[in-house]
Amino acid sequence: MTYVKGLRCTHCNHFYPFEKDLMICPNCQEKGILDIEYKYKEIKEVMNRDYFKNNLDLSIWRYLPLLPVEEKYTKNSLRVGWTPLYKSFNLQTMIDIKSLYIKDEGLNPTQSLKDRASVIACVKALENNYEIISCSSTGNAASSLAGNAAKLGLKTVIFVPKRAPVGKLTQLLVFGADLIKVNGDYKSTYQLSKAAISHYGWYNRNAAVNPYLVEGKKTVALEIAEQLEFNLTDWVIVSVGDGCTIGGVYKGFYDLIELGLIDRMPKLLGVQSEGCSPFYKAFHEEKEMEESEENTLADSIAVGIPRNPIKGLKAVKNSHGSFEIVSDDEIMDAMLLLAKYEGVFAEPAAAAGLAGLMKSRKKNLIKPSDTATVIITGNGLKDTKNALNVINEPVLLNNDLKDLIDYIERGESNE
Ligand SMILES: *Cc1c(COP(=O)(O)O)cnc(C)c1O
Ligand SMILES: [Zn+2]
Repeated sequence: MTYVKGLRCTHCNHFYPFEKDLMICPNCQEKGILDIEYKYKEIKEVMNRDYFKNNLDLSIWRYLPLLPVEEKYTKNSLRVGWTPLYKSFNLQTMIDIKSLYIKDEGLNPTQSLKDRASVIACVKALENNYEIISCSSTGNAASSLAGNAAKLGLKTVIFVPKRAPVGKLTQLLVFGADLIKVNGDYKSTYQLSKAAISHYGWYNRNAAVNPYLVEGKKTVALEIAEQLEFNLTDWVIVSVGDGCTIGGVYKGFYDLIELGLIDRMPKLLGVQSEGCSPFYKAFHEEKEMEESEENTLADSIAVGIPRNPIKGLKAVKNSHGSFEIVSDDEIMDAMLLLAKYEGVFAEPAAAAGLAGLMKSRKKNLIKPSDTATVIITGNGLKDTKNALNVINEPVLLNNDLKDLIDYIERGESNE
């Protein structure tokens, strides 16, 4: 038995008491993305501070009462979640901010935050007796679905746009996915996957449409809160593509407020790329979201038509946060700083979060007296091509101490 009360449509607000798993609002179709509501009163009775102290499960399943899945199939999954939250002593001084934390989601089993959603999708597919699960993705959702499905014995059919980085493609091929590379952008990839899923009746892991996935993503917020002993930073910062991740972060903190475990929502800063910024524009120009070009090297957030505009915008509005945009150069600078000063190697879309913090700090939207947590959403080894473009070629020396001394004394090694 789960503690799910029902599902509410984010578009028409209709409430559906939980009977069986619903995907979208039958009235609103695609636009009717559902939000899962819980029986917080009952959860409160089991999930108090002692619950966390005594819980030895260091994975997202430690939050089972707040998740829309049965326990049965969780037993065999990969270990997802419980990633480290580092205090970033070096960067906080450089950025001139009172306190900075880095949540390293690159340490999930397939090296991105997407594992939190994919493992929920796989468990839901098993609960509903599916054998094949499918999605379209710019890369991480795909590789994470392939890995998590492999562990749970499900088959995967995955659609990727032709620009997906080779690290991510390699991962999902190694995990044994049936891969369909679509000759086009993310939009056409998504359309083909949607048509195929409805034609074949596969389980749908497309992030916005499937309302259970945001529930997995919210566990990153639950962990941050727990790791900070429920004393949250003023700001929580994350990069935004479809809007599901930031929607999930909001939902996690919302749950904790409902349970009385925290007393306020941190301000959420959503970060987009200058070359693809539909959320930023809709938020600051206060208008309907419009399709955007997908012109950035941060492939994971190059989403021209976000699939979850309502949850993403609501997260930022209700938290009194904001959206920021950063250039590709700012993203790569942040990527290098994070690696050099904190030892965390982020993929470009993940480093965008830090770049957004730095920009907001410069504009004084975020103040020196503020505290912040940046969620690093994916690992840098997924996309070495962009990283190689911003580092120096290593020196090649003969096996000769004199050459080495010459080289070191010229000071070139410290460039
Ligand atoms: C998917 C992803 C994001 C953005 O998440 P959305 O739910 O699409 O907003 C950010 N960074 C990385 C590394 C991702 O894989
Ligand atoms: Zn509806």
